Amino acid sequence: MKVGIRIGFPGGDVLLKKPRSVEGTKTAAGNIGLSRELMMPDEDWNARAARIQTRIDELASITDEPGGITRTFLSPAMLKANQSVSEWMREAGLNASEDSVGNVLGELPGAANAPLFLLGSHLDTVRNAGRFDGVLGVVLAIEVVDFLRTAAVRIPFSLAVIGFSDEEGVRFQAAYIGSKAFCGLLAPRDLAMQDRDGLTLRQVIERWKEGRFIMPEARYIPERVAGFLEVHIEQGPVLEHKGSPLGVVTTITGQSRIRITWMGKASHAGTTVSSLRQDALAGAAAFILAVEEAAEKFPRLMAAVGQIFVEPNMSSTVPSHSVHSLDVRHQDDSVRNQACSWLEVRAREIARARQLQFEWETVQVTNAKKCDPTLSRRLTDAMESVTGSTLQLPSGAGHDAAVLSRLFPVAMLLVRCRHGLSHHPDEFVALEDIAAALQVTAEFLSSWS
Ligand SMILES: [Zn+2]
Repeated sequence: MKVGIRIGFPGGDVLLKKPRSVEGTKTAAGNIGLSRELMMPDEDWNARAARIQTRIDELASITDEPGGITRTFLSPAMLKANQSVSEWMREAGLNASEDSVGNVLGELPGAANAPLFLLGSHLDTVRNAGRFDGVLGVVLAIEVVDFLRTAAVRIPFSLAVIGFSDEEGVRFQAAYIGSKAFCGLLAPRDLAMQDRDGLTLRQVIERWKEGRFIMPEARYIPERVAGFLEVHIEQGPVLEHKGSPLGVVTTITGQSRIRITWMGKASHAGTTVSSLRQDALAGAAAFILAVEEAAEKFPRLMAAVGQIFVEPNMSSTVPSHSVHSLDVRHQDDSVRNQACSWLEVRAREIARARQLQFEWETVQVTNAKKCDPTLSRRLTDAMESVTGSTLQLPSGAGHDAAVLSRLFPVAMLLVRCRHGLSHHPDEFVALEDIAAALQVTAEFLSSWS
């Protein structure tokens, strides 16, 4: 039997590993470290989880579109959400600031050159989103900092919490503006991307900042950062199916985002016979069925057309133009590339058969990323300590951690969501699962103590 501390935990007490920290030691963050043994028995994880839930609910009320949750890059709601998050960061003892693309960053004071461990996720949402996606990872990170500070757990690095301003890619149809800027990976061509109002990314940022935008360098040099942990809802059904509240990510799947434009000819819907039509929407429809076919043909491929625009979009006119998205994902980059090539060939065949022209524009490619094995093992150990079991799984959804992995070792903890439902108003995470994720994150960070 293990020697350790018993901590109140939903579904029974949970044994935490005996801490290695010592009393009265100076931490990297400048706190005085006390023994966790003295501090943690009274820790009420449920109360902390309840505070996380309250804050998630508060953020859910900050929206650009009443009646749902929508926050997109640098929108009024996004900036308002940043204010709330900054305030909570300050309450947890972090210095809060916004960078040049609207990422909100909380750093412990007096840690200018200390080695760092980064925690966080994104604060933007899809349209009509659920309340946990992204937000959970930011609010939970703030809570864990508050816990470590209050309990004066001694760890060998300072902590920083990040809420990224764009992960979903709703406004510019290209994801990760926030994390790319944070890592100094924004490219000049990214600044030329346009939103639906024809504003470029550069214009949107410069209007907000009221000044010229200078391409940011990486916020931290890789040598200074011990790692990045992102806690995120699973957005799929595996954890629920396996009866596990949590899972440690092995690989973050690769993704191609493509924009396809079909060009035909507008004509009268009542007088143009089929053989003379150049129907851009019918071309798109044929292609969408080919996308379904691809998902059958290539094992474990995920592919979808989720957004479509039609011109002139009138009931009595054969469409002249249609523009739609294409999202293709696979754990194996070579399979994803093969599938994209196969689909492009199919698009060419459809265009030829229907006398259409088409444009194939690759908007974004993110290669599959392996999480850091050492950090992931430590996270798995923490999960075992807290929940008594472990589970590892790949993430089918893309995440900020994939971008950060280009600079830093990353690990990800997924949290069970009801029916695997995400990007939907009914997205739901149980309070006890939030408590478990919080406790595992605390245990993970304390494991260095
Ligand atoms: Zn997300």
